[in-house]
Amino acid sequence: MVQKNLIDGEWIAGSEAFRNINPSDTNDVVGEYARASAEDARAAIAAAKAAFPAWSRSGILERHAIIRKTADEILARKDELGKLLSREEGKTLAEGIGETVRAGQIFDFFAGECLRLAGEVLPSARPNIGVEITREPVGVVGIITPWNFPIAIPAWKIAPALCYGNTVVFKPAELVPGSSWAIVDILNRAGLPKGVLNLVMGKGSVVGQAMLDSPDIHAITFTGSTGTGKRVALASVEHNRKYQLEMGGKNPFVVLDDADLAVAVEAAVNSAFFSTGQRCTASSRLIVTEGIHDRFVAAMGERMKGLVIDDALKAGTQIGPVVDESQLNQDTDYIAIGRQEGAKLAFGGELLKRDTPGFYLQPALFTEATNAMRISREEIFGPVASVIRVKDYDEALTVANDTPFGLSSGIATTSLKHATHFKRNAEAGMVMVNLPTAGVDFHVPFGGRKGSSHGSREQGRYAAEFYTTVKTAYTLA
Ligand code: ADP
Repeated sequence: MVQKNLIDGEWIAGSEAFRNINPSDTNDVVGEYARASAEDARAAIAAAKAAFPAWSRSGILERHAIIRKTADEILARKDELGKLLSREEGKTLAEGIGETVRAGQIFDFFAGECLRLAGEVLPSARPNIGVEITREPVGVVGIITPWNFPIAIPAWKIAPALCYGNTVVFKPAELVPGSSWAIVDILNRAGLPKGVLNLVMGKGSVVGQAMLDSPDIHAITFTGSTGTGKRVALASVEHNRKYQLEMGGKNPFVVLDDADLAVAVEAAVNSAFFSTGQRCTASSRLIVTEGIHDRFVAAMGERMKGLVIDDALKAGTQIGPVVDESQLNQDTDYIAIGRQEGAKLAFGGELLKRDTPGFYLQPALFTEATNAMRISREEIFGPVASVIRVKDYDEALTVANDTPFGLSSGIATTSLKHATHFKRNAEAGMVMVNLPTAGVDFHVPFGGRKGSSHGSREQGRYAAEFYTTVKTAYTLA
């Protein structure tokens, strides 16, 4: 059965369909999904526009009930939805279920936020005048998401958009439509009025582009590649719309001589290789001071030998396959580039055969890398990391910040002085001390600086900045 798009409250089949393939076993078709056309995208935008006046004025209890019900269903079905996620994306079952729980928590959080909408009342600078500051929804929000977090990223964009009274046109990544379809189905059954949330699965160049080109989308929130992010920005400037971008990362993880070696290795392995290195917060630059360098590299090698890389759904798997062939080629191309540039491939980097045909790659660790190499400057988005040797903390900080990106930055140290200095001076939106660069909470701001991000933060109460617009009203008393 083909899973359809949701446009103006109707499930629409369209004329084409595409297959969702399991990267752990390419013989396994997860499902078939209707491919939306540019026409479908325009119909979805028109439906969202028509639904906006009523939804923007809907009561907070109505919004709360729908979002809360969605949270409850996602959490009640976490095992089934987590399995679907792991099957379509390739992260391990534990990671898939964890991400699903996080999506449920995000809906739960924003269900609560519906009940906490507030403004300010101030005296005017002039006598006998009152001033009110209120937040209003922005209008029709376009949501464009990538494949690496098939349920969490849609959740952290859809939940606040609806909570604050916006209507939505949602385009998920083509590689992973299953999780997106599931949450739209849940929201729809939870009682959303028609047209408030529209799902258009399809190609970025067709459906996504139709969204960028529409004057009726008032805000676009995008997570994906730097190249596409730039297109979103340019089109948004053209239409004078609000936009928010989360793009690449080249996150540093600094290991100082005084680090607890076990803590450093665990955080580095997690940062670099868990979720197959396919997280924008993954660390691919391990910046290590001289005194601990050799012990760190040896301990990483030992730890990497024990990693279980296999079918995402198999019990005991620690690292699933790469998401598809094109990403696998990108990873192996960068491994070849690293060698050509003179870095030493110390561990891994081999293609692996398993019981089922899938995109299995042994995590790769380079040593003797410099920060000038392409493997240190460009986002690879796979289980590939490089060790860059530095003299001391000062050089480590300089190298950590010497990157066009600025999403997440980590340090392993037992020194309060260095931890404090690093927190203040890391040029990144998120800083981790003795923790992996990836792995963030759902109720606090997420986002970066420099080439990684544009616009206000996502998640937590800071999400209100993007999904609302402020009104200042003056009244003569
Ligand atoms: P990735 O390399 O991670 O797939 P992309 O930026 O290509 O990153 O994809 C992120 C999202 O952007 C996907 O949903 C994709 O379909 C969408 N996208 C790709 N090209 C365009 C475009 N021209 N306009 C709008 N969205 C696009």
